[in-house]
Amino acid sequence: PRKWDVCVVGAGLSGGVIAERYATLRKQSVLIVEKRRHIAGNCYDFLDDQTGLRLNLYGPHNFHTKLTNVWDYVKRFGRWAHYYHKKLAWSEGRFVPFPLNTETLNTIYDQHLMGANETAAFLAKIAEPCGPGGCSNSEQQSVASVGRAAYNQFYRGYTLKQWGVDPSQLDALVTGRISVRSDFDNRYFTDRYQSQPRDGYTRWMAGILSDPLIDLVLGVDWFDVQQRLAGRCGKLIFTGPIDHYFADSGLPKLTYRSLRFEKLAVLNIGEHGYYQPGTSVNYPEMAVPFTRSTEYKHYPGQPRSNHTVVVRETSGADGEPYYPVPNPRNHALYAKYKALADKEALKGVHFVGRLANYKYFNMDQAIDNALRIFDGLDRDSAPGRPPVK
Ligand code: FAD
Repeated sequence: PRKWDVCVVGAGLSGGVIAERYATLRKQSVLIVEKRRHIAGNCYDFLDDQTGLRLNLYGPHNFHTKLTNVWDYVKRFGRWAHYYHKKLAWSEGRFVPFPLNTETLNTIYDQHLMGANETAAFLAKIAEPCGPGGCSNSEQQSVASVGRAAYNQFYRGYTLKQWGVDPSQLDALVTGRISVRSDFDNRYFTDRYQSQPRDGYTRWMAGILSDPLIDLVLGVDWFDVQQRLAGRCGKLIFTGPIDHYFADSGLPKLTYRSLRFEKLAVLNIGEHGYYQPGTSVNYPEMAVPFTRSTEYKHYPGQPRSNHTVVVRETSGADGEPYYPVPNPRNHALYAKYKALADKEALKGVHFVGRLANYKYFNMDQAIDNALRIFDGLDRDSAPGRPPVK
């Protein structure tokens, strides 16, 4: 029977980048087994039958990075279109820039601040600093950063809806990821490189997987074929959830937050017609059932369409595993899974990517992580070891 130097579970970014490296740099054969019926993992996008617009099946994806090596890598597999992502929050009947910047603070606190020094001084005045031990949860972190009123207006409800728990019960790093600006900069990210693949993420990902040494099987769960493939993979790269791999270990399951998407098509609005003022709007108020609304037509590289589509998101505990839930229980449990994974590495099984590491990775971090892991594994391979055939 056929053998491969490397088998990869998952055709997302992590699996795709590792496969590409082994095939193009090491000239090794790779088999990718993907349980979904498409490539590109959570970045997957497609053309909507009803409107002709390109939508992401698992939520909007905005590429941004400060890493030049990652930017150089991604450009090799397709054309990219410059795009600064901007987000608005809808609160008390108006749209304001989010993350909070000087304009947002002026609007909600009725101020006339100008420039970084004034804004920083104002933020210092309204903030409630954390104690000497630092901020121990998301409520403390955000009140220390934007003050109680802005916390109540923009953070509390959104976090409750998104995570299903009060911010006081969540790790400080959850809201700590949201920046606050002391100027009028309304870009959501500040990284140097911000762009979208002109023909969509799926087409771009197809470029990553195009080496003829890569075999791809879609719609097949690894756990259904692993017995059949026993002894036929030189090494295994696993990019699925780590607790699925160790399902027989007796350890409890890690918990994830999932999302549900509701599509609202607005037909015949005109080629230049839009539903909302920008790509992405946050809805932090509890009275609104959804958290975020995305209008894909604002993205560059979209096909021309006489229609538009808005996709609204709600969060829940069930469904596809999207966001790891950072809390002490999961941190401790993941450490146990990680210890099992470290032992598995001795058998040539390596855990790569956001689900295997139980860690939220932005796309650039997932790519950088995969590139580094490939470099490490490549260095560790005995020189001259013949590829398995
Ligand atoms: P995944 O994309 O999840 O790929 C893992 C693959 O493994 C999946 O295709 C899965 O089906 C497959 N798999 C799992 N188990 C098995 C099995 N047993 N057998 C076979 N196949 C299996 N990043 C940004 O930089 N910008 C953004 O704007 C952004 N927005 C995001 C929005 C949402 C809602 C989410 C959830 C993530 C977002 N990300 C964003 C992060 C981005 O999606 C990740 O960085 C990226 O998906 C990581 O790739 P991965 O390959 O590690 O994981």
